[in-house]
Amino acid sequence: MDISTLQKIVRDRYFKTDNERGIYHTALWFHEEVGELSAAIASGDIQNAKEELGDVLMWLLTLANLLSVDMEEVVKEYLNNPRKLPSK
Ligand SMILES: [Mg+2]
Repeated sequence: MDISTLQKIVRDRYFKTDNERGIYHTALWFHEEVGELSAAIASGDIQNAKEELGDVLMWLLTLANLLSVDMEEVVKEYLNNPRKLPSK
């Protein structure tokens, strides 16, 4: 599945609720999920970390939808940015 398809699924499924919540409170949810991912990693619980990676990805796409940002475009620009190449 490509990023645009996934972002559209998230938009179709959650946008109304996310939009009513607003960007600030949605950003707080995103931060909470990042915290849960960090806790799962710290505890060595790989299965839980896997679930939290999913949560973080979906909330990231939700934020992008609320900001009207196309994440496929963001990824392409990122990968073509010479400043993002690994340092030697
Ligand atoms: Mg979670």
